[in-house]
Amino acid sequence: MSTAYKITEHKYDMIVVGAGGAGLRATFGLAAKGLQTACITKVFPTRSHTVAAQGGISAALGNMGEDDWRYHFYDTIKGSDWLGDQDAIQYMCREAVPAIIELEHQGVPFSRTEDGKIYQRPFGGMTTHYGKGTAQRTCAAADRTGHAMLHTLYQQSLKHDARFFVEYFALDLIMDEEGACRGVLALDMAEGTLHLFRAHGVVLATGGYGRAYFSCTSAHTCTGDGGGMALRAGLGLQDMEFVQFHPTGIYGAGCLITEGVRGEGGILRNSEGERFMERYAPNAKDLASRDVVSRSMTIEIREGRGVGDRKDHIHLDLTHLDPNDIHEKLPGIAETAKIFAGVDVTRQPIPVLPTVHYNMGGIPTNYHGEVVQLHDGDPDAVVPGLYAIGEAACVSVHGANRLGSNSLLDLVVFGRAVADRCAATIRTGQSHKRLADDACDRGLANLDRVRNANGDTPTAVIRDNMQRTMQEDAAVFRTGETLAAGVKKIREIHASFADVKVSDRSMVWNSDLVETFELQNLLGQALATIVSAENRTESRGAHAREDFGDRDDTEWHKHSLCWVSDEGETHIGYRPVHMYTLDDEVEVVPPKARVY
Ligand SMILES: Cc1cc2nc3c(=O)[nH]c(=O)nc-3n(C[C@H](O)[C@H](O)[C@H](O)COP(=O)(O)OP(=O)(O)OC[C@H]3O[C@@H](n4cnc5c(N)ncnc54)[C@H](O)[C@@H]3O)c2cc1C
Repeated sequence: MSTAYKITEHKYDMIVVGAGGAGLRATFGLAAKGLQTACITKVFPTRSHTVAAQGGISAALGNMGEDDWRYHFYDTIKGSDWLGDQDAIQYMCREAVPAIIELEHQGVPFSRTEDGKIYQRPFGGMTTHYGKGTAQRTCAAADRTGHAMLHTLYQQSLKHDARFFVEYFALDLIMDEEGACRGVLALDMAEGTLHLFRAHGVVLATGGYGRAYFSCTSAHTCTGDGGGMALRAGLGLQDMEFVQFHPTGIYGAGCLITEGVRGEGGILRNSEGERFMERYAPNAKDLASRDVVSRSMTIEIREGRGVGDRKDHIHLDLTHLDPNDIHEKLPGIAETAKIFAGVDVTRQPIPVLPTVHYNMGGIPTNYHGEVVQLHDGDPDAVVPGLYAIGEAACVSVHGANRLGSNSLLDLVVFGRAVADRCAATIRTGQSHKRLADDACDRGLANLDRVRNANGDTPTAVIRDNMQRTMQEDAAVFRTGETLAAGVKKIREIHASFADVKVSDRSMVWNSDLVETFELQNLLGQALATIVSAENRTESRGAHAREDFGDRDDTEWHKHSLCWVSDEGETHIGYRPVHMYTLDDEVEVVPPKARVY
C-alpha cells in the first residue's frame, strides 16, 4: 500500500504548519534566529482567518488613560473564570506591551490618537484597578486590525529567509517509537503529490475548529486540522467543552460584528427597546464578558423579548453614535451590516444573535509553546519535538472564557515564545535522526482509506449532521439531557464516517478529498467537545449548565483532557490549573465570585 505513493522528502530544522498570525510570527521568528524553517499552509498566508479579526489587540499601554499589565493579568484570570494558568497569563500580559511596540515597528498601521499614539478602545471585561474602572486597552487599526497585522507579519516573513509551501495540506504528524514528533506528511493540493517534511520540531498553528458548528463567525477553513492530527497521534486535547459564543453575529448570516462596536458606544436592545444589559451586569453593562452577554441575550429571547417576526434575535443599536465616528472607527462594520443584514447603521439597528466564535480548548501547551501531556502521573510532561500556538493551542491563557482582543495578542506573544524556545534548544543544521521505514505508514493508511472511501454518505451530509447537532446540543445553555442526547448523536455521526463517500478519486485539486480530511478532523473535535461538556457537571465561563448552575471549585477547578481514538472511543483525564506566577511581580489571584 505505502509503496504505491511516491513521496518527496524535505529536511528543515523547523516546520510550522499554518500561516495565520501565530504561524507567521513563529515562522519569521525562527528564521530570524537562524533556524532553517519551512511554513506549510493550506491557504495563501494572507487568506488565513486572522485576516478577518476586527476589533483589536490588547496591551496595557495606557495611551488613553491609566493602565497597568497587572490589571490586564487580573482581568484575564477573572475572564477565564479562574481556569487559566496564571504563570502563562502573567507571561502574556507582561509581554503584551513590548509585543505591540514590536508590531508597530514592524509596520502595523495602527489608528492614532490626536498626539500620535496608538489608539485604544474599551473591550469587554477589561478594567483598571482590579475591576473598578474601565480600561481602554484594545489597540486597533480601525476595525480591520487582523488584516493590518497579518499583512505586516507576512511582509516580515518575506524579509527573513523562511521557505513557504503554499496550498500544501498537512495530513498527519510523523511520530517515532519514543513518542517524539519528527515531521509531517503533507499533500501538495495543486500537484497532487505527497511530501514528507522532516524536522527537529513541528509547530502546529492551524487555528480553531469553529466549523464543527452550523453557525459560526470563522472561515470555512477553520476545521481544526492540528487538533485532528494530534488526536490521531494519540494525544489528548484540553478544555474542549469551552466554546465561545460571540454575542453579536449577524442574524442569519453569522458574520461577526466586533465587540469594538459596543466599545465605541453601541447598545444591545430587546423588543421593548430596553438596554437590558443594565439588569444583568450593572457595572460593565454591554461590555460585560462575552459569555455573560451571550447568556443574557439568550434569556431575553427565551422570555419573549426577542426582536423580529419570530422574536428570535436582538438589536444592536448604533443610531445614537456620530456618523463621522462610525465612518472613521467602524467602516468595515457599516459595510458588513449593509451587505449581510441590509441595514444602514446610522439609521437602523443591526439584527444579531450569539454565534460560535472561538475555541478556548485545544492542544495543551506550556507558555513556551511546547505541547504537554499527562504522562506517568506528570501533568506537564513535554512531548518532544511538538509545539502548538494560536487558537489551535490551549496554553491556557483563556481558561473557560477568552476576553476579546486577547487572541491576537496570544498569537504574537506565543509565536515569538516558541521561536525563542527552539532557538535555545535546537542547533541549526544538527543531523536528523534516522526515521523508521514505516514512519509514514499510519498517515498513508489514512490517506488511502479516505481517498478510496466508497460508502453511501457524501461528506457534506455527515458534516451537516454534525454541525446541526453541535449547534443544538452543545449550545450557549446546556443540560445533562441535551448533552447526553448530543453525545449519542455525535457518536453515531462519528461512526457514520466509516460509510463516507468520496466521489473524486484523483489527486490533483481534489476538494472532495480535502474536505473529507477536514471533516475527519472536525468529527474528532466535535466528539471531544461534547463528551467533555457532558462530563463537566458545573457552570464555568462559556460552559453554562442549567442542571449545575454554579461553579464548583472543589470538584472542577481543573483542566479536562479528552482522547479520541480513530474508532471514536473517548477517554477523559485532568491536569491541575497552574495557581502560581513566574515571579513576585504579581500575586496569584485566588478564585472568587465573578460579577461584572
Ligand atoms: C471574524 C473574526 C474576528 C475576530 N476578531 C478578533 C479580534 O478583533 N481580536 C482578537 O484578539 N481576536 C479576534 N478573533 C479571534 C482571532 O482572530 C483568531 O483566534 C486568530 O486569528 C487565530 O489565528 P491562528 O494563527 O491561530 O489561526 P488562523 O488565522 O485561523 O490560521 C490558520 C492557518 O493554518 C493553516 N492550516 C490549517 N490547517 C492546515 C493544514 N491541514 N495544512 C496546512 N495548513 C493548515 C491555514 O492555511 C492558516 O494559514 C476573531 C476571529 C474571527 C473569526
